[in-house]
Amino acid sequence: MAITPHAQSDAEAGRTALRDVRVFDGRELSPPRTVVIDGGVIGTDASGARVVEAGGAVLLPGLIDAHIHLYDRDSLRRLRDHGVTTGLDMATWSLELLASLRGIPGLTDIRSAGTAALGPGGQHAKFPGVPADAIVLDPEQARRFVDTRVAEGSDYLKIVAEAPGQGGPDQSVLDALTAAAHAHGRKVVVHATNTDAYSMARAAGADLITHAPLDRPLSAEEAAAVAAEGRVVIPTLTMMEGVAAATGRSFAAATGSVAALHRAGVPILAGTDANSQPGVPFQVAHGESLHHELELLVAAGLSTLDALRAATVLPARHFGLDDRGAIEPGLRADLVLVDGDPLADIRATRAVRTVWCGGVEHSPT
Ligand SMILES: [Zn+2]
Repeated sequence: MAITPHAQSDAEAGRTALRDVRVFDGRELSPPRTVVIDGGVIGTDASGARVVEAGGAVLLPGLIDAHIHLYDRDSLRRLRDHGVTTGLDMATWSLELLASLRGIPGLTDIRSAGTAALGPGGQHAKFPGVPADAIVLDPEQARRFVDTRVAEGSDYLKIVAEAPGQGGPDQSVLDALTAAAHAHGRKVVVHATNTDAYSMARAAGADLITHAPLDRPLSAEEAAAVAAEGRVVIPTLTMMEGVAAATGRSFAAATGSVAALHRAGVPILAGTDANSQPGVPFQVAHGESLHHELELLVAAGLSTLDALRAATVLPARHFGLDDRGAIEPGLRADLVLVDGDPLADIRATRAVRTVWCGGVEHSPT
């Protein structure tokens, strides 16, 4: 892009040098150094920059919550205030709402599945506000469903699978939805909260499976197969913990599955299922919940390093967000400055001092 004199002076006006930060580079913390924010991206030239003395605080890439739902601008503000600079929406019914929440300067940046595909009888089909075309009954309807979502601008496809007999889409519909999404170059995220639904998601060719089984932990053999198939899991332990407590099912099954998947080498992404949906078993607060999720992932057996990667570099990689997830020149200036060392104690991510969304600075009060 050609830089006009006018644009250049604007960039200089928006240049900030963060001095004395220890940078999480995806592996470890750097020695204290300077990071330049140049307009909306990470820069290299500190000349003319406003200097912020960070006093050795830790700079993380902006956190990514890989499973949220959206309601209003306040959901974005709460995400941002807790250092979540990217939110991956896994079903929002109103296109007008979604359009109004995309690309707002200084707030959390979103991607969305738009309308999720449901079977005729599952719990999700009974949520208020679910549009009729979310219910997919046969393979032909599945292809139309995907065509419509692609035309609407869905970034990926979301399908809610249920165990056989539980009212979800049958296997032929899951297969057709997945094949059609792949033909359009879209990734497929399948909701599965039990091992039978996990099996259906795998048979359909899901790229990502979200939630963790509450009936029993996945075996080492099953986890190894998920790894060999190249699938990615967003376990949403925060949601599974809440659902298990509300319904008397086993949270240990969920954490046991995460441990098995992680040991098998399956990429695990941090996602919370943040929602304020009436009628769901458990509501999850936007923003704060991601820090709880990181703590639950560590309790389930991830290292603090793997937990941080689960909320930064890995979701960026697996959702094709090439412009974020790390702190490198040219990438979006999505950053979180925290007190304390989250590699030593994951709870340090909660001590958010300052957040930058696309270079726009915000200090939560
Ligand atoms: Zn969800």
